[in-house]
Amino acid sequence: MSGKIQNINSRRIWDSRGHPTVEVDIVTSEGVIGRGRAPAGTSRGTREAIEMRDGGKPLKGKDVSQAIRIIQTKIKPRLIGKWLDATEAIDHFLVKEDGTSQKVNFGGNTLVAVSLALHDAKAKTDGIPLWELFAGITNSTPIIPLPEIQIFGGGAHASNRVDIQDFMVMVPKATSFSEALEVTSEIYHSAGSILKQRGILTGVADEGGWWPCFSTNEEALETLVKAIELTGEKPGDRVVISLDIAASEFYQNNQYSLDLEDKKYDTEQWIEILKRWLTDYPIVSIEDPLAENDPEGMIAFTKRYGDHYQIVGDDYLVSSKELVKKSYREGACNSLLLKVNQIGTVTEALASFEVARSYGWGTIVSARSGETEDTAIAHLAIGLGCGQLKVGSFSRSERMAKWNECLRIEEVFGENNFAGSEPLRKTWWFNQYVGN
Ligand code: PEP
Ligand code: MG
Repeated sequence: MSGKIQNINSRRIWDSRGHPTVEVDIVTSEGVIGRGRAPAGTSRGTREAIEMRDGGKPLKGKDVSQAIRIIQTKIKPRLIGKWLDATEAIDHFLVKEDGTSQKVNFGGNTLVAVSLALHDAKAKTDGIPLWELFAGITNSTPIIPLPEIQIFGGGAHASNRVDIQDFMVMVPKATSFSEALEVTSEIYHSAGSILKQRGILTGVADEGGWWPCFSTNEEALETLVKAIELTGEKPGDRVVISLDIAASEFYQNNQYSLDLEDKKYDTEQWIEILKRWLTDYPIVSIEDPLAENDPEGMIAFTKRYGDHYQIVGDDYLVSSKELVKKSYREGACNSLLLKVNQIGTVTEALASFEVARSYGWGTIVSARSGETEDTAIAHLAIGLGCGQLKVGSFSRSERMAKWNECLRIEEVFGENNFAGSEPLRKTWWFNQYVGN
């Protein structure tokens, strides 16, 4: 079954930080409504798609009336009457009409909302869930992903109190998604209790992780290990640690400046610090360990540790197919963090995923620090069968909406289709970084 785009409605809604964002409804000739919403990042890569914001004083310059005007006056007239079957062609058409690599004419936020709405409308018209549509487009075997869940939030998501951005856990040896969440819930609350006891709990950061007043960045790692132990788990056994260093945020003048400790390191010294953390703590995955403008550092780090650790490019790759190709050629990173709004459209994001997959790289589908109740990325992670999903912490409904959506889909799939389950433990990333 197919249908044509009959109308496009767009509106301003509010994201999880209370900032305006864009929501788009695509109405089809069959009466189907497909909906898409734009998330927003804070620790953004400089090469990612640029959001269309009004600027000026009101709403901190973040209003989206211009973006909505563009949807109504430039995008809608171009898309009315197009067949929904052509999602890929429509995305390519929009990218071409915008005409810039960073989407400065239409705005990355307008494009991502339109593109997600388009895919939602297509799935609904076909009578299939969104994950099935994504699986079909990329010829993937759907898998319920391993959740990567933030326990402490730092960096730009917590006023830079702690320099490192995300201290996360993964439970790759859980037998189901549901069990992975159960274990994580215990760790999350155990970590909160430790901070409360020590009098250093100041609330939750943008993605719902605890916002602590640690004295050093390493104290976060020590406390995370303690929190895991308090739940009766042995760190490094069933539960492992994953970090998003978000190093571009504290790289200035060729130095990594840790404000919390008032210390500055050159690239080689910074790699030595990371090496010690990788040795002393049960870390299996590390995102943006070096800054986006320190390619020599990222290449050197990948060369030394890429065989044993998942090295994820977020700001470094900005979900760009071209940057994935370049990094592969140069030997930087071995995994892609996939954020649709970083590149603009679903079709471009799927292309980046397919290139990463062709190299044998892993992919982690990721939310942004500013989110909405949208659950499309849970479907994306499942449909691509990439095995990993990162949507922030274990609190705040914009985060829980995504975890809970995976639970509902797991019910349909059964536990043997969970990335950590026995039949799927043979996947390359599991064997390589976690072991059996
Ligand atoms: C991240 O860096 O992985 C992240 C989710 O942050 P943001 O959305 O602020 O870029
Ligand atoms: Mg990141």
